[in-house]
Amino acid sequence: MTQDNGTWLDQAGPRTRAVRSGIKRLSALEHGEPIFTSSSFLFESASDAAAKFSGDEVGNVYSRYTNPTVRGFEQRLAALEEGECAVATASGMSAILALCMTHLRAGDHVLCSRDVFGATVSLFDNTLRNFGVDVTFVSLTQAHAWSVAATSKTRLLFLETPSNPLNAIADIAELATLSRELGAILAVDNCFCTPALQQPLALGADIVTHSATKYLDGQGRVLGGALVGREELIAPVVAFNRSCGPTMSAFNAWVMLKGLETLDLRMRAHSDNAQVLAAWLQEQPLVQRVHYCGLADHTGHELASRQQRRYGGVLAFELAGGREAAWQFIDATVLMSLTANLGDAKTTIVHPATTTHGRLSEQQREEAGINESLIRIAVGLEDVEDLQADCERGFAAAHSV
Ligand SMILES: *Cc1c(COP(=O)(O)O)cnc(C)c1O
Repeated sequence: MTQDNGTWLDQAGPRTRAVRSGIKRLSALEHGEPIFTSSSFLFESASDAAAKFSGDEVGNVYSRYTNPTVRGFEQRLAALEEGECAVATASGMSAILALCMTHLRAGDHVLCSRDVFGATVSLFDNTLRNFGVDVTFVSLTQAHAWSVAATSKTRLLFLETPSNPLNAIADIAELATLSRELGAILAVDNCFCTPALQQPLALGADIVTHSATKYLDGQGRVLGGALVGREELIAPVVAFNRSCGPTMSAFNAWVMLKGLETLDLRMRAHSDNAQVLAAWLQEQPLVQRVHYCGLADHTGHELASRQQRRYGGVLAFELAGGREAAWQFIDATVLMSLTANLGDAKTTIVHPATTTHGRLSEQQREEAGINESLIRIAVGLEDVEDLQADCERGFAAAHSV
């Protein structure tokens, strides 16, 4: 039985598409998605080989650029983002690299929001500058600053919303309008929300980038990345992958395919847990400030309520007592995992100023609002009462500082 992805599935809801789209059944008896661990594929004849090599006929050739399991993940993700097509890559960073190598040329200019993922800053600021691409970093939340910084050479606008870890929110539709006026491409890193909570393409973005390593896998198992968008923008990236090779493995694609089946349920649960924990943290005497866009007093709350379905799983808070208290808090927790990853079923905790944002200068950290009192929690799927009990251990230790 093969699925006809062109008919009933197009009309189906997002949760059905998450479970049913993206890979053809090979036989009536098969119910799971197969992993095609084959580096290359056989042809029926010499003319079949020629047709598939040239692209005249669609088919599998070599797993650097065509693999049925990877294709299944790409189609399922595209269905969820409601984009024309997707291309999977080895990691989130290789997705952004492939985007830049395909759509930028020496002499081009990039506008990038200041508080993007650290490796993204480094990619734009170090690697791409070596190839003659100029970048200006601008405030995520001030659309006016983007239009002031734009030049006739601006080809790409890149942003991440909500930001890590303070949950600053960009107005995607407003920046999409600016991007169209400039004749540029707007790319949105949708890692924190995933298509379950936010669909940047529907808000006018041209390309969505993913670190599939985070919520798309959802259980901290493998690395992966993806780009989603119109065929005319994605096809050149597929060609880049074919010649340059930052490809997703079939096994990782299979993990991601299964991850997408539970994405909607997990994102609801992450968001619900984070909402309860954020409100509770606000009441704690040692907490000076909680940064979570689900809280009514967060500066991005109203915008997040408009462009997101829920508020996601990542929050940050400032603890009285500076770095010493923050470190005591973290070291006293026993349930939360001390690691910089996020998007896992397991709750993770980290001190951004000395880890994820440790490479920034003190002044850059101050500008970004990452002070020494700040703790980030990427809220997992445990019982929220147990997370509160773990925080109580942290408060008891921080209190003695
Ligand atoms: C982790 C992350 C990336 C990089 O993804 P990798 O899969 O680790 O390469 C990019 N953007 C955001 C927002 C991330 O959190």
